Amino acid sequence: MEKEKLKASVTGEIDALRHQLSEIALKIHANPELGFQEVKAAEWLTQFLEENGFSIERTICRLPTAFKASYGEGKPAIAILAEYDALPDLGHACGHNLIATCAIGAGVASKRAVDQFGGSILIIGTPAEEIHGGKAIMANRGAFNNLDVAMMAHPSIRDVATTRALANQTLEVEFFGKEAHAAARPEAGINALEAMLLSFAAINSLRQHIKSTARIHGIITHGGKAANIVPAYSAGIFKVRAADDAYLDELKQKVLNCFIGAATATGARLEYKWGEGRYATMRNNLHLARLFKQNMESLGRKVRLSVPSDGSGSTDMGNVSQIVPSIHPGVAIAEKEVVGHSPEFALAAASEAGIKGMLDAAKALAMIVVDLVTNPEIVAKIEEEFQRGQ
Ligand SMILES: [Zn+2]
Ligand SMILES: [Zn+2]
Repeated sequence: MEKEKLKASVTGEIDALRHQLSEIALKIHANPELGFQEVKAAEWLTQFLEENGFSIERTICRLPTAFKASYGEGKPAIAILAEYDALPDLGHACGHNLIATCAIGAGVASKRAVDQFGGSILIIGTPAEEIHGGKAIMANRGAFNNLDVAMMAHPSIRDVATTRALANQTLEVEFFGKEAHAAARPEAGINALEAMLLSFAAINSLRQHIKSTARIHGIITHGGKAANIVPAYSAGIFKVRAADDAYLDELKQKVLNCFIGAATATGARLEYKWGEGRYATMRNNLHLARLFKQNMESLGRKVRLSVPSDGSGSTDMGNVSQIVPSIHPGVAIAEKEVVGHSPEFALAAASEAGIKGMLDAAKALAMIVVDLVTNPEIVAKIEEEFQRGQ
């Protein structure tokens, strides 16, 4: 059967590229770059795609490290998304180096499917997933319009075809007080650090009475200059997360009230800013998820369709999934005990199991491309499911 032959051919292509792909994955891993600073990674990825016949647009959506690489023409327009940002101090503790090389490997291998059956492959480089919500910003700037499908695969501790993700927005806060000698003239000061500490206390009280799926957490980035000076400035960054958009809006106001109350109590002045990239919940397209499961299982892996008991983070792929049928499956690269965003996960992202997971996921995504270009009815069903869920 022609489709099966083509699948064997695209997976064979990924095997042929394995050395190049693992070399790029390890190079990105060894040179971790934070969100919107992924200059080297974006260059290495676009260079590989250019050498392999893709047309490249750099700096799309007015973001210097975002890119779009395209091959082929017309429908179906299939996007494979690459992430490549790292975490402060921890490096690639979310394994985005593997997401990036999975995307470019799948893209290059898919060329032969598009050559034979038509359609287009777009590898979209999406920076700053971790902190700024790069895809949320890119979605607002039209990067994902006119696509039929958007796919990526994320390193995980298990093989699972769907992802749950919380809606999430970042809140940056600053308190402005007044310096004074902390012992000789404390009554002349206004303590901005106390305002911050009171805010934490208020949020901790609030936390008892919020939905169990919601999350509020934050850090203090500035807490004063010296113990004998009343802190005149404090600053922090918080994240508010909820299982749906409406509850996120409600919770955002409650959290903000904690800061307003602390400002009133201390006399410090509050300034705040909600992050531009608001992460949406993930809408998993089940037709696409099943294709991922089937194709991964053809490689000898066991893939679950979903894991209901999993704790959830957030992903800006959620924003993409609100405008185009999408999947964001997990690919096992580490043992079950390993926690994401930890030094152990960073090691896994450069391990043999990490590279194997990346190559298998690239094969599965390329095989989905074969499914889509050889079978327009599947594309129609994917679209139908997406429209039904609106
Ligand atoms: Zn991640
Ligand atoms: Zn992460």
